[in-house]
Amino acid sequence: MIYCFPPAPTRSLPIVNSAQRFPVNRIFCVGRNYAEHALEMGKDPTREAPFFFMKPSQAVVDCETPTSIDYPARTSDLHHEIELVVAIGVGGRNITAAHALQHVYGYAVGLDMTRRDLQAVAKHAGRPWEFGKAFAQSAPIGPISTVQDVGHPAQATIELMVNGVTKQSSNIDQLIWSVAESIAQLSLYEALEPGDLLMTGTPAGVGAVVAGDVMTGSIDGFGQIVVKVV
Ligand code: MN
Repeated sequence: MIYCFPPAPTRSLPIVNSAQRFPVNRIFCVGRNYAEHALEMGKDPTREAPFFFMKPSQAVVDCETPTSIDYPARTSDLHHEIELVVAIGVGGRNITAAHALQHVYGYAVGLDMTRRDLQAVAKHAGRPWEFGKAFAQSAPIGPISTVQDVGHPAQATIELMVNGVTKQSSNIDQLIWSVAESIAQLSLYEALEPGDLLMTGTPAGVGAVVAGDVMTGSIDGFGQIVVKVV
């Protein structure tokens, strides 16, 4: 194969207790998956079918060590959304919830950074969310903890601090659609592939950050990430 120019590099994430890295394929995200966050976004938190959106793999920022992201263009309302990230290791379609966890390679802490103003304009106009969600450096993610190491925790505190002040604090047991159910639903629409990531939604407390702010995100058992906006 001779390319006309060098292809974009494969984005990857470190794996805890391993010299190997996890090559990122696609990034799927669940919308409004914690009741309190659905309410703060002005939506009914009843258990309607989950919906999904995507980010390009190029959005990934490796947060193995404290890192920084650039404040993106064309927004004045950049929001943090702390999320449990599921790393898919085994592909499949029409996966049942009962079998879904067998497709999981591991878990990580991630941020679904959002240009909320652009997302709001798109929502009201009935346009796609992409430019509110799928921009460069919009998915800072920490190292992947493998299922072999941490199993499939059903409960864990999930928190985000900005400059040391807690802004988001909940528990992953508050997910409206569990990890298994989210995988099952997603796999009805698209065959999952090894390397896919699933960002499972954010709890209440989303808000804006500005250049100079330091975000510290954590999920008990999955470590923490430290991301400065510059
Ligand atoms: Mn989100």
